[in-house]
Amino acid sequence: MSIDLHCHSTISDGELTPEEVVQRAHANGCTMLALTDHDHTGGLAAARKQAELCGIQLINGVEISVSWRGRTIHIVGLNIAPEDELLQTLLLRLRSGRLQRLQAIASKLEKKGIRGAYEGTLAQATNIDMVTRTHIADFLVNSGHVNKKADAFRKYLADGKSCSVRHQWAELTEVVAAIRHAGGIAVIAHPMRYELSATARRNLFSEFKACGGVAIEVHSGRSGLNDRLNYALMAQQFGFLASCGSDFHRDGDFGGGLLGCCPELPPICVPVWHHLTD
Ligand code: AMP
Ligand code: MN
Ligand code: MN
Ligand code: MN
Repeated sequence: MSIDLHCHSTISDGELTPEEVVQRAHANGCTMLALTDHDHTGGLAAARKQAELCGIQLINGVEISVSWRGRTIHIVGLNIAPEDELLQTLLLRLRSGRLQRLQAIASKLEKKGIRGAYEGTLAQATNIDMVTRTHIADFLVNSGHVNKKADAFRKYLADGKSCSVRHQWAELTEVVAAIRHAGGIAVIAHPMRYELSATARRNLFSEFKACGGVAIEVHSGRSGLNDRLNYALMAQQFGFLASCGSDFHRDGDFGGGLLGCCPELPPICVPVWHHLTD
């Protein structure tokens, strides 16, 4: 049994179509998969058709961008009803904010002598209303300004770098409320990736719990045994269910693991998948 509850397709910033994601996960031995594109549920119907063909259990998912105390945090919704209007209104708002952010980043790049980033990035995006920093990085590579995507983040786009902008995503409470309204379970994505002090992390976990969040990812991508043990203990302390996800975007990706494959969770964990249905 192999479970992966976090991955991306071409609907957001992944390189495989939703159908290819399901096929690849199945080929890698996955039995339960959640497709969790950023701020978008547009891949779920196609993924479900393919999952029925392959005989793999598909969980409807989404990864929603949140601003919490000036930082970007990601919240995964599992088992959501994609047709839920409150959820879709929130996702639509987040996606239109992405175009404004692109404009702001493009004008910072222009000041560095890099012209045409707005149009150039839109030309890279398969989904014009879903522009991520990965697409801006693609533009910077394809226009010869950097050699590889990682350099685009290191030089310009990563948080705090010269062309990053502070963007206001959604509030933690409204995101958890929208996921619950859509019948879903809210999960803190990759908690080991945020640079938080122990106190800030406790505050995040407590606030998340107080507004109805129920799980954290105890494993994400290529994180190791130490992280799994630490976050399993924290899940136990806070009474959270445990989730796991590859965060796969493409082969050889930054931080992402093998699609469809996650290591077993420490035995103290209460797995979130006992609460999921397809
Ligand atoms: P956005 O949601 O548009 O800010 O885009 C963030 C996406 O960029 C993440 O979901 C990752 O897929 C990718 N990303 C973030 N940081 C890096 C990095 N340092 N190197 C490569 N990709 C990154
Ligand atoms: Mn991404
Ligand atoms: Mn994320
Ligand atoms: Mn992700």
